[in-house]
Amino acid sequence: MIPDANAGRTGNPLAFPLSATVLTLMALFTLPVATVALPAQPVLMGLFLLAVCLLNGLTASILCMLLLAGSPLHSLTWVAAAYAFSAVMAVMQMLAFPGIFGPAPLVGGSGQTAAWVWAVWHAGFPLLLLAHVGQRLLGRHEAQAPATQILPVLFSVACALLLGLIVLGAAEHLPVIMDGYHYGTMLRDPSGIGAVVLSVTALCAVVGVTRLRDTFDRWLTLGQYAFTLDVVLALAGQSRYSAGWYMSRAMSLLCAGALLMALLAHSFRLYRAAAQRALQLQVEVVHDPMTGLLNRRGLLQLMQTELERARRHARPLALLFIDMDHFKHINDTYGHPAGDLCLKSAALQLCASANRHCDVIARYGGEEFVVLLPECDETGAGVVAERIRAAVEAAYDHGTVPCRMSVSIGLSRFPADGITSLDELIDAADAALYEAKRAGRNRVVHARPEAAARSLSPS
Ligand code: GH3
Ligand code: MG
Ligand code: MG
Repeated sequence: MIPDANAGRTGNPLAFPLSATVLTLMALFTLPVATVALPAQPVLMGLFLLAVCLLNGLTASILCMLLLAGSPLHSLTWVAAAYAFSAVMAVMQMLAFPGIFGPAPLVGGSGQTAAWVWAVWHAGFPLLLLAHVGQRLLGRHEAQAPATQILPVLFSVACALLLGLIVLGAAEHLPVIMDGYHYGTMLRDPSGIGAVVLSVTALCAVVGVTRLRDTFDRWLTLGQYAFTLDVVLALAGQSRYSAGWYMSRAMSLLCAGALLMALLAHSFRLYRAAAQRALQLQVEVVHDPMTGLLNRRGLLQLMQTELERARRHARPLALLFIDMDHFKHINDTYGHPAGDLCLKSAALQLCASANRHCDVIARYGGEEFVVLLPECDETGAGVVAERIRAAVEAAYDHGTVPCRMSVSIGLSRFPADGITSLDELIDAADAALYEAKRAGRNRVVHARPEAAARSLSPS
């Protein structure tokens, strides 16, 4: 389910057990004093609900974007639905909670409305997670189109809006679960018991089905663990603004943030992998994988720059066009792997022979190479060419290749008569190479500008 093979494994392995331990300790320390009344901070509740709404909304949005982008995180469609549901319910509770927008709630007559919104919220979220577990058990997600996978999210938002509006409008007619700030009756009421049972069931189901295999499974589980503790602590607190109630708010925030952190870490890893791959591709696209030399694309880019530099500063530039002699025969006689070995060996000889920092060596294609020698006049280039020819010929004596091999080399230079462009420089070297082949191979021939001009002319 993870896009790149490492994404699920690269998270810190200690993060999950440590976080789970911290949550457990927080709950254990709070439970004995859960009912202790603390100062009422309704504005804090407003900020908390805003944060929960944003965190849940962000989590759902990122998951939806990943789903629409065709990410292999397809099985998380119902998780996105659960977080979207939570985001909407946080808004509903903001509307129903007294003290946030004024002494009275914005919608609904009493605290009863906020309590019922809480009950619906804390039943809906685990139910949607159970839908996620069911989907994973059935393996139904694989074949769905990305757009179809958003449907559960739209469904959950619609449900949240509908249920929220019903509760906001009709909470006064529902069974009484709130008396002033006290909601201790929820401990015996289906609204409270249902929330606990559903949360614990969803937690066990998520652990059982995911088996905490990858980062997402672990952080999803941690989120649901925080959610379950949220429910337990809220009920244990028995009244608004008790220690248990405040700690349950903290758990709710942690639930909302857990998966978001995992998604952000995942995005960071994907971005880092993509950036590294882009850098790698930039290198690969201008290099020949077999010899490691520049390829024709890389060479032509550099050649244009070097020609412009030579022209601007009136400096010499030489080009060697190198072709392996009778290479087809080598392949036919010794096989292609041996031919490849010869090409690699020839490439090494070129690198050893043209060893100035500014020299450019490239595999032009097949068994053809080009060496570009900036700041090198014809005499100097002739010396380098001869060194290359001799080095390739001597490779067999060093035992690096299975057969004797040789190269023919055409040499052209800039500035020279009739050579004003890159194409003309290459054509002149190519024409000289052709001369070298005709003259018997294994030799260096210097281009004669007039010959190059002639070879270009159609007559
Ligand atoms: P000439 O002396 O006239 O250049 O003869 P040649 O046989 O070298 O020339 P030709 O162009 O007929 O053959 C070039 C051969 O180079 C044919 C092709 O199979 C071989 N070749 C091209 N690229 C590779 C490669 O990457 N590996 C191997 N083993 N052979 C290659
Ligand atoms: Mg050739
Ligand atoms: Mg050849």
